[in-house]
Amino acid sequence: TMVTPSQTHREVGALEIEDAGSLSKVRVAAQPDRLTKTTNSMEAPAQPWAERIAPRRDFISRVQGHDILASLSSDRSFPRSDTTKNTNPDPPLSQQHQVLRELNPAYTFDSYVVGDSNRLAHDAALSVAAQMAANYNPLFIYGGVGLGKTHLLHAIGNHLSNLAPKTKILYLSAEQFMNEMVLSIREDRMARFREKYRNIDLLLVDDIQFIARKERTQEEFFHTFNTLYQARKQIILTSDCPPKKIPTIAEQLRSRFEWGLIADIQAPDLEMRIEILKKKAASQQIVLPDDVAAYIAKKIHSTIRELEGCLAKIRAYSTFAQQQITLELAQKVLYDLFDTTPRKITVELVQQVVANHYQVDLSSMKSSTRSRKLALPRQIAMYLARELTNLSLSDIVRYFGGRDHTTVMYACRKVEQAQANDKTLREKIIHIRALIIA
Ligand code: ADP
Ligand code: MG
Repeated sequence: TMVTPSQTHREVGALEIEDAGSLSKVRVAAQPDRLTKTTNSMEAPAQPWAERIAPRRDFISRVQGHDILASLSSDRSFPRSDTTKNTNPDPPLSQQHQVLRELNPAYTFDSYVVGDSNRLAHDAALSVAAQMAANYNPLFIYGGVGLGKTHLLHAIGNHLSNLAPKTKILYLSAEQFMNEMVLSIREDRMARFREKYRNIDLLLVDDIQFIARKERTQEEFFHTFNTLYQARKQIILTSDCPPKKIPTIAEQLRSRFEWGLIADIQAPDLEMRIEILKKKAASQQIVLPDDVAAYIAKKIHSTIRELEGCLAKIRAYSTFAQQQITLELAQKVLYDLFDTTPRKITVELVQQVVANHYQVDLSSMKSSTRSRKLALPRQIAMYLARELTNLSLSDIVRYFGGRDHTTVMYACRKVEQAQANDKTLREKIIHIRALIIA
């Protein structure tokens, strides 16, 4: 019995215990001298680790038998060198005893939206998860950043660990694989390393492209792959490119990656992006009107991660401003998001678009008038100029041929009041704003 540090320490602030016995043995193992040695790679804990382990007694005692690695993940009492990385909550206890690396319980097939761009990958993943179909071995999933590869990998793991709790599942990134290998070499524990990696039923390796140019890691992974493959164990890999495009990787390894099924994930189309937004919103209890979802999905077409980021911003903004999520609010937030683009909104542009919309002469923007037909567009232009440019009130009023900054203040108040009582006007302004910031 011994306590060993691993990549997990630095990655998620977790401690792995290779435990062949009971909790008391873990305690025995947790002697200060041994522990001091193992803390080298992290900040030294303020208390002996043995004490820190104690709160997790229930969990540890659930781990039985030999060679089971208990992942004490997300334990806040542990020192962490990087707190930003660990956002995954603890998986349910029922899943922990055979899952050798934590799976994110939120990444399931249920929460995964399927469309043309990812159907093949999804179906293949599901069929492997459902029956460990050995003819898809390995399953190689590739696609651009933020398109759902990691989500799928976790979904497979989660599905199988529910379906067949005895299955030994190991999820990790290729980088973790390498780091653990390096550590094992340094500490002369390679036999253990091999035993661990070659003794599982389902190996999920994320971002395998990472091993490009890393010869020793490739070699070790090659042996791991062969052992598992020969034992008819399932291997699933993800990568940001197809095997052919992984640079400088040993030919034997590349060809093995192509033995099974290769499935790609493409960027989602508009409809799918809308669906993803709605699903994410629903799961977070965010009220997201259809027009807002469509608006965001039209504006953001790069990655799903960015879609999520945008949704989070809109939610934060609406909470902060204590406003419901509306198209107008979404426009403002998105405008802020894209504010870094060089395109600059000028008062002239605002005036032009407003005048155009109301079919009035541009010169009417510069003359104060009592006719409502002309006064309203002028006020709306002031209101939008105030919102969309960084100019001061007195700067703005000059563009409108005035001198008194309270004119702009008055216009803004007027427009806000008018909008509040007039849905048509509100929609008009939303439309005009969209034209200006488009
Ligand atoms: P990758 O590993 O390909 O970079 P991730 O799996 O980390 O991408 O996905 C990024 C984010 O987008 C995750 O939060 C994930 O839940 C979400 N996501 C990706 N694809 C989908 C999908 N088809 N349905 C729902 N959410 C998705
Ligand atoms: Mg990923």
